[in-house]
Formats: sequence, structure tokens, C-alpha cells
Amino acid sequence: MMNYPLTLKSILERAKMLYSKKELVSRDYSGTFRYDYGRFYERVCRLANVLEDLGVNRGARVATLAWNTHRHLELYFAIPCLGAVLHTLNLRLFQDQLIYIINHAEDTIIFVDRDLLPLLEAVKDKLKTVKGFVIMTDSQELPDTSLSPVYSYEQMLAEASPQYNFPSDLDEWSTAAMCYTTATTGEPKGVAYTHRGIFLHCFSCLSADMMGLSERDTVMAVVPMFHANAWGMPYTAAWIGAKQVFPGARPDPKILCQLIQDEKVTVTAGVPTIWMGILEVFEKQAYDFSSVKSFICGGSAVPLSLMKAFDEKLGIPILHAYGMTETTPLVTLSRTKSYMDQWTVEEQYRVRVKQGLVAPGLEIKIIGENGEDLPHDGKIMGELIVRGPWIAGEYYKNPQKSAECMKGGWLHTNDIATIDDEGYIAICDRTKDLIKSGGEWISSVDLENTIMAHPGVAEAAVIAMPHEKWDERPMACVVPRPEFRESLGEEDILNFLDGKVAKWMMPDRVLFIEEIPKTSVGKFNKKELRQKYL
Ligand code: AMP
Repeated sequence: MMNYPLTLKSILERAKMLYSKKELVSRDYSGTFRYDYGRFYERVCRLANVLEDLGVNRGARVATLAWNTHRHLELYFAIPCLGAVLHTLNLRLFQDQLIYIINHAEDTIIFVDRDLLPLLEAVKDKLKTVKGFVIMTDSQELPDTSLSPVYSYEQMLAEASPQYNFPSDLDEWSTAAMCYTTATTGEPKGVAYTHRGIFLHCFSCLSADMMGLSERDTVMAVVPMFHANAWGMPYTAAWIGAKQVFPGARPDPKILCQLIQDEKVTVTAGVPTIWMGILEVFEKQAYDFSSVKSFICGGSAVPLSLMKAFDEKLGIPILHAYGMTETTPLVTLSRTKSYMDQWTVEEQYRVRVKQGLVAPGLEIKIIGENGEDLPHDGKIMGELIVRGPWIAGEYYKNPQKSAECMKGGWLHTNDIATIDDEGYIAICDRTKDLIKSGGEWISSVDLENTIMAHPGVAEAAVIAMPHEKWDERPMACVVPRPEFRESLGEEDILNFLDGKVAKWMMPDRVLFIEEIPKTSVGKFNKKELRQKYL
């Protein structure tokens, strides 16, 4: 076989060659922006020239602080295809983390959306390597800013040449993109994605049993483009020329519902909180979602109640997926097998609510405390470990964390899982979140999901409470739905759980709170909950 480099250039060139008429839609500051892959390619060429003029050379880190927009997609391609590294900055990070990440990655230029300028202005004096800021906006005027030097994205693109020859000699093992993930302790950890890793990840996403995207799809990634390449959707969709919809700055559930209806979105992806919000809006106003084939949901466990509500109220399945920043990110996705069509609906739910089957191309195992392989019986819990061509082999410039998490050629996920005899993985918890009571594990995720099935509960998070006798006991922090705020009590929750979970797993305390603190990527921040309420 030929020694053909697996680089993002081939995705970009294919989109241009075959799909120049296919549409891209982006919610911009002053309206909807529409163009096609043909004009997109031309702008990517202009952008590559701009990057060269700004002194960006091979291997240089170029950061983005941006929403899901067409400009972000242009950066997704122009930066890696000329040989530099796209570093997507998480706009929900604390200032100290942002400073650490930018300095650690040694970012040279930052492309920033107009409304996110204050985030950079607040930290600018602490940035050691940044030589300039490019502001992205659709208005003629640049906003006032204390950042310097600043450039206008649109003006620079307008003045740049529309021709660019992307290099053909890029090494497939070179870094195309980077993303930092929050550590449970210490500073954030950087993950470097190679061209090869992203390329092969796209292949796996394309398979019909995974995301199964095709040219006929209209794809809207709601998961932020700063989080693990928006689960690979922008790259995968461009490769097969699917229409893409970008929800822009601060998308709320109403905006998303409107976009799904107007643009006839067929596949979209995001964390459970997003779909809970969509459901709430949908219940008040019926949108036309007849185009949608599936809602891909991951990043946190999907509550069964949410899955059922989507089936019953919208008639559209939620597909449960699992992955990590370190895994590019797709590791598993849950679809029932053909012979399961004969199973009862409840039996099928028991499969669908699991995190699913491992993606083609990856290997997974669950291991015990001494590293021994554990059986696939759907009951025994162990740490999930993963390896494969799009799994990070190390953390960027962090040998200590690499040694802890990438032992023996496997990524140790810190997630505790079972694997059943059909091969379906069920994540029971993250190591730090398991509750050990009298030597036995209680899954806080299971408890949370069961509590969240109560009609009066908006959200619930379960944390471990220290206990003299049992070591730890579960405590449930519950946010009632507004209409249940006055009436919902501890007894209601416990009565609801009675018969659904083993007696010894019942929470010792139910605490009613206003809201559950979230991490920068919208997950329950249990660290903060523990600090606040224990
Ligand atoms: P991140 O790197 O921020 O995407 O976080 C990855 C972690 O989120 C995983 O290690 C899991 O603990 C959790 N996670 C991701 N997807 C799921 C899922 N479908 N169910 C349960 N936990 C998940």
C-alpha cells in the first residue's frame, strides 16, 4: 500500500472538490450568515495567507476563544492544514486556568469572538507568549479594547489572496489541535490531537453504527467547538459534505429549537443539560422536529427519564455516547443490535441507557485494583481502560500525569464501568464519585438518575458524606422543579426511591438546593458541592 499521510488536508480538499454547493449556516451577531463549502474553501485559503502574514509557522500554537460559528470552522481547517496547531480555549474557565493554559501551550496568536474580549482583557498582562489578537465580528467597526495589537478577522480576510497551496508534506503524526481538560487535582492537562488521530476518529464516527453521518444530513454540533473538537462533528461533516449549522454566541434552548426547525437539522449532539432545556421549551411550544433522526447525548450519563421523555413526547431517539477529551472523544455509542428488535421496549431501554459499544478501531477493558482483567458479566465494576489510534498517549508537557494515566500503553479513564455479555459498557461512576459504604460501592450516578425520574425533580446530584460506621453514606442534593418548590420534601424522594434501589443505598440525607454548581463544560461540579454542603 501507499505511504499516504492521514492529514486534515484531504478532508478540506474533498469538501471543496465535491461539495462546493452544499450549505453552511451560522448564527452571527447581526443575523444568519449563509455560504457554501466552495466559498468556505476560498475563505480558508485567505485565512491561511493571513496566518502566514501574522508569522504563524509550522508547529506554532494558535488559539481560539470562540463560539460555534463558521469562522471557528475556518480556523479548524486553516490552522492545522498549514502545519500549525489549533488550540481551542474553553470560554468557561476561571481566569487562572485560562492564563495557565495559554502560557503552557505557548499560544502565539488568539482569535477571539467580539463578545468574549473581556475574558482576555482581564488576563492580558499575564500572557507571556501571545503576540496579537484577531477579533471576530460581523460589524465594520472593531469594538474598543485594551488588548494590543488587535486585528480584524474580516478585514484581513478581505485583503488576503484567495489562493493558497496547503503543504502536502505534513507528517500525519504532527499535532493538528489541542484541548485542555480540567484535572481533579492540580492544573489542567493538555491533550494534543494528531492529524492521524482526528482522521481515523472521523472514519469511526462515520460508520452507520456510530454517528452514521452522510451527505444528506444537516448536522448541528451544540457541544462547544472548544470541547474535544465538538466531538469531531465539524471535521466529520465537512468530509462528507453534510450541511452544517452553527448556533453562534450564547445559544439558548429556544434558539436551538428554532434552528432545528428552520434549518431542518437531522443530527445534533450535546450534553444532557442541553436536551433537558430543549424538552422544557418543546413542552410549552411544539416545534417541527420532523427532520431530526437522532439527538446524540454524552459527556455525562443520560437519565433514562430523559430518554423516555424524548421517545414519548418528540418521537425521536436519544443516542447515548461516551468519551473524554483524551479520546478525541468518541469511545462508545449505544444502539441496539438487530436481534434486539424482538426484545420488549423495557429491555431495549436497559441497553440504550448504557454508554454503548466500543467504536470500531478501539480496544477497551475493565480492570480491578491490581490491574487484573475483570469479566464481562454486566455486574462486576472495574476501571475502564482504552487504547487505539485516537487515544492520547501522553499529556502535553506533563510527564507526571502521563505516567499516572497512560500506564502500560492504555489510557486509564478513572471511570468505573461494567461490560455486559453483549459488550455494552455502563459507566457507573468516576472513581472519585463512587460512594463506598461498608466496603461496598454505591453508584452516585444510578441514584441521581433514579431521583431525576421523579416528576418534581429538575436536577439531582449525589455526593459521599463521611460516616462513622459505614465510612461513607450518600447525600442527595436536589433541585425541585419550580412548581414543586413548596411541596417537595425529603419523604417524597425517599418514598419514590423505595423499591427502586436497595435499602442500604438509600440516601441518608436529602438536601433541597437552588441549583447544582456546574463545571466549565456543564457537568455537575461535585467538588464544589462537597465543599459547600459537607
Ligand atoms: P471530558 O473530558 O470533560 O469530556 O470528560 C470526560 C468524562 O466525562 C469521562 O471520563 C466520564 O467521566 C464523563 N462522561 C463522558 N460521557 C459520559 C457518559 N455518556 N456517561 C457518563 N459519564 C460520561
